[in-house]
Amino acid sequence: MKISQIRFAKLAVPLITPFKTAMRTVNNIEDVVVLVETACGQIGYGAAPATPVITGDTHGSIIYAIEHLIKPQIVGMEIENINQILQRIHGSMINNNSAKAAVEIAIYDLWGKWLDKPLYQALGGGATQLKTDVTISVDGIDKMLQDSQRAIQQGFDILKIKIGKDIHMDIERVKAIYQAVGKQVQLRLDVNQGWTAKQTVFALEQLDQSGVQLELIEQPVPANDIAGMRYVTQHVSTPVMADESAFSPKQVIELIQTGAADIINIKLMKTAGLSHAIKIADIASVYNVECMIGCMLEGSIGVAAAAHLASAKASIINKIDLDGPALGQFDPVQGGVDFNGATITLSDGPGLGIDSIEQLQPLVNGVWV
Ligand code: MG
Repeated sequence: MKISQIRFAKLAVPLITPFKTAMRTVNNIEDVVVLVETACGQIGYGAAPATPVITGDTHGSIIYAIEHLIKPQIVGMEIENINQILQRIHGSMINNNSAKAAVEIAIYDLWGKWLDKPLYQALGGGATQLKTDVTISVDGIDKMLQDSQRAIQQGFDILKIKIGKDIHMDIERVKAIYQAVGKQVQLRLDVNQGWTAKQTVFALEQLDQSGVQLELIEQPVPANDIAGMRYVTQHVSTPVMADESAFSPKQVIELIQTGAADIINIKLMKTAGLSHAIKIADIASVYNVECMIGCMLEGSIGVAAAAHLASAKASIINKIDLDGPALGQFDPVQGGVDFNGATITLSDGPGLGIDSIEQLQPLVNGVWV
């Protein structure tokens, strides 16, 4: 199964409600779709969203990196030599993790097709159903309470609360949500780098004194403030999860060895695809450190790959935060992984199991058509 061509398309899905974090507000899921074609007529699907404030990647940079640096390295290679293909992808340039991730996802999709196995089975096997939490965007308290109630009615029993705007308001937000629904559901807090280390310790003390119980707190301090992460981890009893601080396997080793985080959030757009995500899961399991699988605000192609990985590595990836596709008004991807509220169901089709994708806008001679 020889790689013959790589093409691009755009896929846009409007959100049910705007997605708001401490960093940004977004109205659409918009991915660059990467179609890796083979001489025998197969297509491997990969995708990546633009996340300039997290990974530094934009749609333009993703397309340029793949077209001019990755594609020349891997066209003509046979899918059965997957390790060599992955090495070439990672050797093509530094950084540009989302571009590498999109291509890797398509390569693993083709590898599953070549093996004639769904990807989760090719990676070692696992369950076909996963349960995800749901994101509650940061907003006024009334709106966050409404969104929390609606999520519970929709069957979610873990809420990931986005905060990190103003610490005193944030404390009030969490207290109010815990009071309203904290006995029914588990709460995860995602501060998205919004606080300092001392503010985080202060906030968690306040919440603790109010009887608020949290499953975990995610990335309270800026990504590069590892000393701050360590300070928080050592001064609070709530488990601390690294997200924006944890991109590469090496960073994860350092976070774990220095006691800077209790849990690692793995996202394919940070790890540059599946191969390094697998390494991180294996490293974490050596240290008995739990992992979450997360995603960006992205559609169901990239998130399907994350779901397959989570299934195969379920013994260490035991927290699922893959609500991206379910936040869209519809899913244009047919076959593949089904995202239905809290329930994620993997199909048994080969690779990612994708049959077809509606509403793809191909890129032809530099223009979306
Ligand atoms: Mg996060």
